[in-house]
Amino acid sequence: MSEIILPEVELNIHTPKNPTEAVVVENYVCTAESSPNIVRHITLDLTGTELDGHFRTGQSIGVLAPGEDHRGKPHKVRLYSLSSPTKGEGGNQHLVSTTVKRANEEVDGTFYTGVCSNYICNLKVGDKVKVTGPSGKRFLLPENVDDFNFVFFATGTGIAPFRGMILELLESGFKGQVVLVFGCPYRTDVLYPELFDRLEEEHENFHFVKMISREDRRPDGSKYYVQTAIEDRADLLDPILGSDNTLIYLCGMKGMETGIYHNLAKKGFMGYLRLKGQPSTEDPNEWGWKEAKELLKPSDRTFEEVY
Ligand SMILES: Cc1cc2nc3c(=O)[nH]c(=O)nc-3n(C[C@H](O)[C@H](O)[C@H](O)COP(=O)(O)OP(=O)(O)OC[C@H]3O[C@@H](n4cnc5c(N)ncnc54)[C@H](O)[C@@H]3O)c2cc1C
Repeated sequence: MSEIILPEVELNIHTPKNPTEAVVVENYVCTAESSPNIVRHITLDLTGTELDGHFRTGQSIGVLAPGEDHRGKPHKVRLYSLSSPTKGEGGNQHLVSTTVKRANEEVDGTFYTGVCSNYICNLKVGDKVKVTGPSGKRFLLPENVDDFNFVFFATGTGIAPFRGMILELLESGFKGQVVLVFGCPYRTDVLYPELFDRLEEEHENFHFVKMISREDRRPDGSKYYVQTAIEDRADLLDPILGSDNTLIYLCGMKGMETGIYHNLAKKGFMGYLRLKGQPSTEDPNEWGWKEAKELLKPSDRTFEEVY
C-alpha cells in the first residue's frame, strides 16, 4: 500500500475570541421540500478576510450565533463541515459552503430548538455571520489521491465533507473507485440527490449507495443502515474494500462507526481497523455491540468524524 500523504493545513486563523465576518450568498433546502428533517445548503463569501483561500475540503468552519446562553455567556462556537471542494463553491475560491440540519427535538414533552443551526438556517442572502477556523487537520483527502480508492460512509449531514471531496476527486479526472454510502430514514431525507445521481451517471467510477432505514426492508426483515451496505452491496464493495489501496471515511452521527467497524471485521477487512485489547473470542460474529465498540478502533486507512 502507498504511503498516505496528508496535506499541511492551516488551523485557527480566526478563533472564537477573534472571529471574522462572512457574508451569506446562498441558502437553500437540499433535502426534498416535503422532508420534515430540513437540511439547508449555505454558501458564505469570505472575500476580504484572512480565511479566503485557506480552507481545504474536509475541514470545518466555526460559527458564532449572536446572543447569550442560559448562563448569560456568549454562545459557544459550533463547527460545520465544509461541503465545498478546496477550490471553492462552484470553483470560486472565496466561497465556501456547508450543510446544516435544524437541530430540533422533543424531550419529555418539551420542544427544544438548536441555537446555532437554526440561526444559520434562518440567515438571508446578504446577512453577515461571525466565523472562525479553519478547523480539522486529519479528516482530509491525501495529497496523493491517485494512489487510492475511496469509500465514504455518511449519515445525515455527514455527507457534507464528502460532497466537497467527491466534487474535488471527480472534477480533477480521478480514475480510481469512489463509493458514497449514504444512510437516512426516508427517501425525502436524501441530501443533494440530483447532484449525486448526476455524478453517478456521468462517472462510471462513482457509485451512490442509498440506505433507507425506515421505508425498505432487507430480505430478513431487518433495516438497511450504512453498515449493512457492507453485506447488502458486497457485489460492489467486496472488491473495493478488499483492495489494499482503499481508504475509508466515516462522517455523521456518533455511534455509526461501531456498526461499520463490526461489519468490516465480520467480513475480514481488518486493514481498516486496529484492535484495542484482547477479544473474548477470535470470531467477530460472536462479539456483541459493546465488545465491538470497545475493541475496534480506526487504523490509519480509516478517517472518522462523528458528532
Ligand atoms: C467536526 C464537526 C462537524 C460538524 N459538522 C456539521 C455539519 O456539517 N452540519 C450540521 O448540521 N452539524 C454539524 N455539526 C454539529 C454542529 O456543530 C452543532 O452541534 C449542531 O448544529 C447543533 O448545534 P445547535 O447550536 O443548533 O444546537 P444546541 O443549541 O447546541 O443544542 C443541541 C441539541 O440539544 C437540543 N437541546 C437544547 N436544549 C436542550 C435541553 N435543555 N434539553 C434537551 N435537549 C436540548 C437542541 O434541540 C439540539 O438538538 C458538526 C460538529 C462537529 C464537532
